[in-house]
Amino acid sequence: MAKPVILTLDDDIQVSNAIERDLRRHYRQDYRILKATEPVVALETVQRLKQRNDQIALFLVDQRMPGMEGVAFLSEAMKFYPDARKVLLTAYADTQAAITAINVIGLDHYLMKPWSPPEQHLYPVLDDLLSDWLATAEAPFDGIRVAGTLWSASSHTIKDFLARSQIPYRWLDIEQDAEARALVDAVSNEQHHLPVLFFPDGSTLINPHITTVAAKIGLRTQATHPFYDLIIVGAGPAGLAAAVYAASEGVRTLLIDKETTGGQAGTSSRIENYLGFPNGVSGADLARRATAQATRLGAEILTAQEVTQIRVDDPYRFVKLADGTELSCKALIIATGASLSTLDLPGVDALIGAGVYYGAAVTEAAYYKGRHMAVVGGANSAGQGAMFFSRYASKVTMLVRGSSLQKGMSQYLIDQINCTENIELRTHSSISRVIGTDRLEALVVRDNDTGETETVPAAALFVFIGAKPHLDFVADVVERNQAGFILTGPDLMGDGRRPKNWRLNRDPFLLETSVPGIFAVGDVRQDVIRRVASAVGQGSTAISFVHQYLKTV
Ligand SMILES: Cc1cc2nc3c(=O)[nH]c(=O)nc-3n(C[C@H](O)[C@H](O)[C@H](O)COP(=O)(O)OP(=O)(O)OC[C@H]3O[C@@H](n4cnc5c(N)ncnc54)[C@H](O)[C@@H]3O)c2cc1C
Repeated sequence: MAKPVILTLDDDIQVSNAIERDLRRHYRQDYRILKATEPVVALETVQRLKQRNDQIALFLVDQRMPGMEGVAFLSEAMKFYPDARKVLLTAYADTQAAITAINVIGLDHYLMKPWSPPEQHLYPVLDDLLSDWLATAEAPFDGIRVAGTLWSASSHTIKDFLARSQIPYRWLDIEQDAEARALVDAVSNEQHHLPVLFFPDGSTLINPHITTVAAKIGLRTQATHPFYDLIIVGAGPAGLAAAVYAASEGVRTLLIDKETTGGQAGTSSRIENYLGFPNGVSGADLARRATAQATRLGAEILTAQEVTQIRVDDPYRFVKLADGTELSCKALIIATGASLSTLDLPGVDALIGAGVYYGAAVTEAAYYKGRHMAVVGGANSAGQGAMFFSRYASKVTMLVRGSSLQKGMSQYLIDQINCTENIELRTHSSISRVIGTDRLEALVVRDNDTGETETVPAAALFVFIGAKPHLDFVADVVERNQAGFILTGPDLMGDGRRPKNWRLNRDPFLLETSVPGIFAVGDVRQDVIRRVASAVGQGSTAISFVHQYLKTV
């Protein structure tokens, strides 16, 4: 971290040089001394330092300057550094202004010019103020700061991306934090395009796409080669497992994800049924371990890169990325999983990120501490969500369409929910309306048995219903069922016949699609068991079929 700054401002060059000289002599060891001769330039410096999250310990400012008086400058600078100590350099005639400033802006001291000898008039005063500042100064955060509002959907997307990519960041809520608001105003001309990301090098990004953030923080977003033995699309548990097995067996492998690694599992607060983790494991931890393992074994991983199209030009398979790049390979695995279905209710889309979240949204739960949260859905993901949110919420209302949890949820979770006092379970229930304009306030809940409705207050609603595959990019290249899930192996052999246009003298392998050399694994497949272990099993198994296929091309 850079040393804290002492900033001096005086429009008289000779005075400015003299104060700089005296400050350096005594404080250069522990502080950076910056000087300015114009208030506007000094304010720009203040903003720049704040953007880099550098500390300013003390302002030493002349009162009489053309354009802006010292007190006015200090009250502007304080918006960014309210805790810095403030000293005014005054002539005898400015004494009254200085005394007034003590009341108005909390001026810490005023010094009469000239201050020589500094050992007597300058250093003792500043030593005292600086030791006071040091005793209370918060250690600066040397990482990315994300400034936004809790209700901005794009702020949520960025936070989620950073958290799931294991990138530490500090959240600045501009509705709660005046310093953060001033910082955002300074870079976005009060337009408030949120979020604004501040990087330790002083640069900023305003409402960026995650691909821009990924590139900025050094995540790989571009492939190093145009051609691979195997490309895997989707880095959830299925894709990661495939990458680990392929790379460990010497297959030149590229794994691509449009967000970050981990997939749906990466959003889970606690996976308790995955082999080898007796105390459960968070999805983020599992994703981190698997990513490190795949990378160590030699797989190349691109994140924040969406595959928008695939095509076949035998013997090669091609994937097109959102940035227009096309990459080719001999074999392709589709592991793009599924995502939770969305609620089809009026007004709900406007509240996404402003109280309505799809999935566990682990990063947001803490912000709803002590408030009423609701969870809709009756499968394991909803149960885990409810258990996780119950740590923060005053009450969690679980809305389940069926008559009990037994049908869709593991018994261990049902037992945990039954023992958790602040979870209220409402069966036979569905949401008929959401209430709130710029943030969620309440839900109108319908009892499906009686048809009666009740308004339930809710600051946050976490939705865990149904699943739909992520497959727009495959278009008609591979065969799918009516719901859009991919058919593989025996599913393609409906009446004992091989798929249309299948030209090989063998049946499709177990995890092979209707196109030879294109495989599908995990939740993206028809009638599959949607579990982490199942996805991992399929991802690893697919590699033995990839080997058999590669021998033929
Ligand atoms: C909140 C939650 C909790 C869960 N808890 C459990 C649990 O406790 N135990 C359990 O066994 N299972 C659990 N599940 C289910 C489990 O997570 C899934 O079955 C599993 O993640 C499926 O893995 P997958 O690799 O097939 O797909 P996904 O995990 O869905 O991963 C697919 C990946 O593909 C990427 N992708 C999609 N489209 C593209 C594209 N066009 N280009 C590039 N990348 C793309 C996505 O960004 C995603 O990262 C949970 C699911 C959720 C949502």
